[in-house]
Amino acid sequence: MTFTMIRKNLLFCKITRIKTSSKSLFDSYMSRFKPGQETCPVCGSLGNCRIHAYYGRHLMDFISSKPVKSDICVLRVCCGSCGHTHAILPDVVVPYSGYSLFFLLRLLGEYFSGLFHVEELCERFGISQNQLYQWISLWRIHKQEWLGVLADMEVSDWLFLKELLSYNRYSSFSMGYAIQCNNSFMQSHANPPPSGSKTAQYHQLIYSPDISVF
Ligand SMILES: [Zn+2]
Repeated sequence: MTFTMIRKNLLFCKITRIKTSSKSLFDSYMSRFKPGQETCPVCGSLGNCRIHAYYGRHLMDFISSKPVKSDICVLRVCCGSCGHTHAILPDVVVPYSGYSLFFLLRLLGEYFSGLFHVEELCERFGISQNQLYQWISLWRIHKQEWLGVLADMEVSDWLFLKELLSYNRYSSFSMGYAIQCNNSFMQSHANPPPSGSKTAQYHQLIYSPDISVF
């Protein structure tokens, strides 16, 4: 049994315009979410997903210049047609990561700006240097996967980050990345999924319907 998920688009705006926490965006998204409108990513059946279970998860955000830990409740739906269950994960959440997308982009942005010492940065974000370097290497792998080897050499980390922040709809990027790379941006495979299975599988082809939370 593989662990599958349904990625949802929530970030239909410029990331830099967002002033609320990942948790509040996640919660307002989930309050509008209707399982019965989803397409099962495994068997393709439309309208057969039902609420299966919820599991709790920590999500670290970075708000007013400090790390803020909150808890979110992830919904798993079950497809009545094939019996697979899928976690519903809007794009403020990075699969298997306890850190929000905003946290990661903010941290990497400050690192790539070159304005801060690594020690100071890690202390302020409450992480180890080892963790920071793991994220930087993951970022570089994903950047190259997205841009291709040649473009990757021409676009600096800082420039690529500014590009991500400038998208009018960040979700267009996150969805495009998932389709092209068969993985979510900044999703590390080093962390085992909660179900205990070893692989995270993407089957998703259909992302609609979309729900606006802004
Ligand atoms: Zn199914």
